[in-house]
Amino acid sequence: MKKKVLKDIDCEGKKVLVRVDFNVPLDGGEVTDINRLEAAEPTIRYLMDNDAKVILMSHLGRPGGEVVEELRMDPVASELADLLGEEVTKIDDCIGEEVGLAVSEMAPGEVLLLENTRFYPGEKANDPDFAGKLAQPADIFVMDAFGAAHRAHASTVGVARYLPSVAGFLLQRELNALGEVMENPEHPFLAIMGGAKVSDKLEVIRNLYNKIDYLIVGGGIANTFIAAQGYEIGESLAERDKLDLARELVAEAKNQNVELILPEDVVVADRFAADAESRTVPIDSIPEDWQVLDADGPRSLKKYKEIIKQMKTIIWNGPMGVFEFDKFAVGTNEIAKAVAESEAHSVIGGGESASAVRKAGYARQMDHISTGGGATLTFFEGKSLPAVEALDNV
Ligand code: ADP
Ligand code: MG
Repeated sequence: MKKKVLKDIDCEGKKVLVRVDFNVPLDGGEVTDINRLEAAEPTIRYLMDNDAKVILMSHLGRPGGEVVEELRMDPVASELADLLGEEVTKIDDCIGEEVGLAVSEMAPGEVLLLENTRFYPGEKANDPDFAGKLAQPADIFVMDAFGAAHRAHASTVGVARYLPSVAGFLLQRELNALGEVMENPEHPFLAIMGGAKVSDKLEVIRNLYNKIDYLIVGGGIANTFIAAQGYEIGESLAERDKLDLARELVAEAKNQNVELILPEDVVVADRFAADAESRTVPIDSIPEDWQVLDADGPRSLKKYKEIIKQMKTIIWNGPMGVFEFDKFAVGTNEIAKAVAESEAHSVIGGGESASAVRKAGYARQMDHISTGGGATLTFFEGKSLPAVEALDNV
């Protein structure tokens, strides 16, 4: 990596401001998933062990530039303290006197968590004045929030103008893992694309065509492709104004020598519900009032599994169906199993894809599960991440 990393700097006794991604799911004031805290732990622990004063900041949810009581970082602080087995001091602001005071009272190796950065409009606006205030109490900036690295905000990009700035371990690990598959993939190389919207994935698919040999299209985005072939898709989720685009992508795949594989049969439901009535049909027989909730019928799955078995590299983004409903999680789970059991180097990217793989119980068998959603997609689009660009060069 051409950017400076944590190991390149001496942090002993220094006040180190770390941008982490603690944008965790909350339910009734409780953190329901601590994956993101665990992902940040190596950097935090390294700084603690090296006697830095560790000042953590993150956004949480979408408070829209003002204080929202339910989006305070307090539940995160207590989960983090449990995880680290150390005390974590939480304060109710992220800039200003209160922060300065708290930092001046820190001993080396201690951890301080600042308040939600999005309580200020200057965060998303990347206001230089606000960024200066965030940077003010610190000596060094460590960027470790891979999940927010595609956003040019004050806490991800702005602060880097004021402080020596390096990548933390998580950011480093993500960039290495994703960089490896994009730059040096072993062939044959398969991309599996699912999820909700074609328009979200369009640029990703286009960029991947330069690298991959096979593309399996599943999930909600398959519906748009099925419709583009002229079949009835009933009430299915689809972007009906994007049929031309889907046809273009099919043609482009041919030009680029990519074998594009669409489902042959799908699981349809009479409504969008966990207990909907369901049946498996070939794609030319989707009933008018029904909707596709799982893109992979048994015939499609059989074909996919044969391909997966032969691959050397696989990247997967987007669930193959509405995996949140058990009844329609079969395709997603079966693909997860096939990818996990294959010998291919496997990289999973995307918020829902990652949780689908975890839920299916195959997380440990994957080579890399990215902690980023948008950041991973931006990376797969072949674009640079603003928060990485902002770091010091080696
Ligand atoms: P990721 O977060 O992995 O990038 P997306 O955000 O693109 O994935 O899409 C995930 C969502 O797509 C899931 O919540 C899933 O329910 C939904 N989805 C997948 N297939 C379908 C479908 N056939 N109809 C409606 N929604 C679907
Ligand atoms: Mg998503």
